[in-house]
Amino acid sequence: LSFAHLPLSPAMQANLAQLGYAQMTPIQAASLPLALQGHDLIAQAQTGSGKTAAFALSLLHRLDADCFNVQALVLCPTRELADQVTQELRRLARAADNIKILTLCGGTPMKPQMDSLGFGCHIAVGTPGRVMDHLERGSLTLKALNTLVLDEADRMLDMGFFDDIVTVAKQAPKKRQTLLFSATYPEGIARLSAQFMREPKEVKL
Ligand code: AMP
Repeated sequence: LSFAHLPLSPAMQANLAQLGYAQMTPIQAASLPLALQGHDLIAQAQTGSGKTAAFALSLLHRLDADCFNVQALVLCPTRELADQVTQELRRLARAADNIKILTLCGGTPMKPQMDSLGFGCHIAVGTPGRVMDHLERGSLTLKALNTLVLDEADRMLDMGFFDDIVTVAKQAPKKRQTLLFSATYPEGIARLSAQFMREPKEVKL
């Protein structure tokens, strides 16, 4: 269960060792090989399972640092989770040059977020409402998106974000990877997947 078997850059392998990530967690071992191959995934994962690195390593692997448009978008149910995901992405992104990661959540003024987006951003992490707001105003575009992540999808459904998630997904290019993580599988998960995922592999632990 070593990360060494994965097709990650030597810089990323060194970074993982420095972070003390010696072994993959079970969700990482089950999902990373599939995610790195480009498959869509529906993965069952609880908080604390290491699910963030499971999608982060995949999206960082595909990232082009020279392209300053948003290439990966992570949708989260809450600001608290979005902040945690951003922190973990920043730790893992240390292996690459100058990756810009922005958190887009409500409860903070729009204008500074719009300005930051204007300076270029590789990865956006945010809540569906605020992400929709940026899309409507044109401060965020998904034309260069190659990875869409739905983190804690069951909680987002509980909060009534079904339609927002579908709207966001429909603005992203069809040719992309979608990674969905959820602790439970309410009926809405299958409906979400049917709307915009492509032959997702299911990872159940
Ligand atoms: P998460 O479930 O993504 O919130 O991760 C829970 C915690 O586990 C975070 O603090 C991560 O930094 C840490 N973590 C993730 N993957 C590993 C790993 N393979 N080895 C050790 N710690 C890890």
